[in-house]
Amino acid sequence: MHPINIDKSLIAPCGMNCGICMAYLRNKNKCNGCRAINTWNPKTRVECKIKNCQSLNAHGLEYCYQCNQYPCTLIKHIDKRYRARYNMSMIQNLNAIKDNGIEEFIKAENEKWKCKSCGGVINVHKDICSTCGKQRNTESG
Ligand SMILES: [Zn+2]
Repeated sequence: MHPINIDKSLIAPCGMNCGICMAYLRNKNKCNGCRAINTWNPKTRVECKIKNCQSLNAHGLEYCYQCNQYPCTLIKHIDKRYRARYNMSMIQNLNAIKDNGIEEFIKAENEKWKCKSCGGVINVHKDICSTCGKQRNTESG
């Protein structure tokens, strides 16, 4: 059981909510999120161009929107892919954090990705609840 409990440590520099990622939600070879330091590193995380971005790291930026190159080609590329495949937008997330602050964003994310049936977490990559397997937005509440 994964009752939804997104916190600040799960929001990646690119605006991705690691708490709803399939790599975070699985039990085997679980990823602890882009900001976590752990011994087992999923390839996607280690090779992530945003996580390894020179500008982010050189300036010690917390989120991409703080960068003077924002929105750069990298973030636009990943944003486009996620909008098309998973109906989610990093740029929209980053702008929400920029405009309303991280606390408000986290509050909204915990509502947005909470399974209406069991209170578990919706897996953004599979579009189903990671606990009960129900599809997202199929219940009116
Ligand atoms: Zn559920």
